[in-house]
Amino acid sequence: MADERKGTTGKTVAELSQTALDHLWIQSQQWEDLAAEGGPTIIEEGKGVKIKDINGKWYFDGSSGASLVNIGHGRQELVEAAQKQMATLPYASIFSYATVPAIELAEKVASLTPGDLNNVVLTSGGSEAVETALKLAYQYHLNRGEGQRTKFIARRGSYHGVSLGALNVNTSGYGRRDTFEPLLAQNARFAPQPLLYHCEFNSETQSECDVRSANAIEDLMIEEGPQTFAAVIAEPVSQSVGVAVPGAEYWPMLREICDKYGVLLIADEVISGFGRTGKWFAIEHWDVVPDMITMAKGITSGYFPVGACAVRENIHEAFKGGPEATYPHGFTYGGHPVGAAVGLANIDIMEREGLVENSATMGEYLLDRLTPLKEHPTVGDVRGLGLISAVELVKDKATKEPLTEVPGAVKMIRDQLADRGMLTRVGREIFITPPLPVTKDDIDEMVDMVEGSITHAEKELGLS
Ligand code: PLP
Repeated sequence: MADERKGTTGKTVAELSQTALDHLWIQSQQWEDLAAEGGPTIIEEGKGVKIKDINGKWYFDGSSGASLVNIGHGRQELVEAAQKQMATLPYASIFSYATVPAIELAEKVASLTPGDLNNVVLTSGGSEAVETALKLAYQYHLNRGEGQRTKFIARRGSYHGVSLGALNVNTSGYGRRDTFEPLLAQNARFAPQPLLYHCEFNSETQSECDVRSANAIEDLMIEEGPQTFAAVIAEPVSQSVGVAVPGAEYWPMLREICDKYGVLLIADEVISGFGRTGKWFAIEHWDVVPDMITMAKGITSGYFPVGACAVRENIHEAFKGGPEATYPHGFTYGGHPVGAAVGLANIDIMEREGLVENSATMGEYLLDRLTPLKEHPTVGDVRGLGLISAVELVKDKATKEPLTEVPGAVKMIRDQLADRGMLTRVGREIFITPPLPVTKDDIDEMVDMVEGSITHAEKELGLS
């Protein structure tokens, strides 16, 4: 196996690993760490909820790639949709033309989003969708004679992408906003997260944490003048802060506050959209219609890079009325016909196979299975909604000091999971966001692997 030659250049696995170290920049991972491990893990194939590395070992894809392979791996219908579209028309510029798949994808997205989010800007990813939404928000106000609305409110710890506009509303550890601070617009303000376990107000209940976190957003507006704010951007369920699932009050309050001051509300559903939380869009759990929804990932289940920003009718209206009113914005690959065809085939599978419903049912089962892990000395909290869930690892339950403070602990758990047959993201939390067709048996196996890995690390590190 070690000598088997792979790829178009016929390299051995060892040669490929070295070539990766020499030429393929794996962002966000320390080169020295990768080098010490002999190169990155190379993934070669996927089928259903599993992926195979280049040495032939199969694993549960516990994180659906980057929380996006919603329909699972190896779905031939998407391959056929892409192939057919490439053969018919590989590309036409969205700056000048529409294509049939782009029209149909926009219509489909409009039908799946709540309320009158009926106009859709197509992009090629999540950061582009966020850029689109932020600029749209500002120009919406400008077109209506309120060009002084130049500021945004986001929440501490939220991830919205790495392009400069998206990074400007980003404070998650990933993306390292502080490094790029001198390049940013300085017009973003940050509010608390409705995450009870780390609630900034030390709230006893989710309801109190919700109310105080929402009120903090209104306080920020009042402090600097609500008429200076363009929009609030927030993920209905934030994965980047460790899966924050607000209670009943938070989102309706945000809607009310934004309406009160004429500030737009952007729901960033790049991760939470397309069934991840057990609804087509997570915002539906709270019956709230935001002014815009940004989406990507699950729109094609990652089979093709596509993103989108859906906007309400009244926002689209503000862009009618002469050349100055139009939106001078667009990406070459926005509305890519192949991406749109793949998106349509993906959504068709999700509908036909009831994958959103499966996400809701299996999500409940997953949370039921994970919750008892709280008995472990290193498990501080377990959170989830649908098939987005997190097991928060702590060094000390009383202080909630993260297990990341114990040298080698996170790597040990990650390696243990891989040895047992599961790849997923591990940091302050173990994230479990499998493809939506996951079964109870898959979940049982994955949870056993998670528990086994935690138990192993506790013993080895003397934390039991
Ligand atoms: N917004 C959220 C909530 C995300 O989770 C992500 C990516 O993980 C983005 C935006 C950025 O998307 P992309 O990586 O496609 O640019």
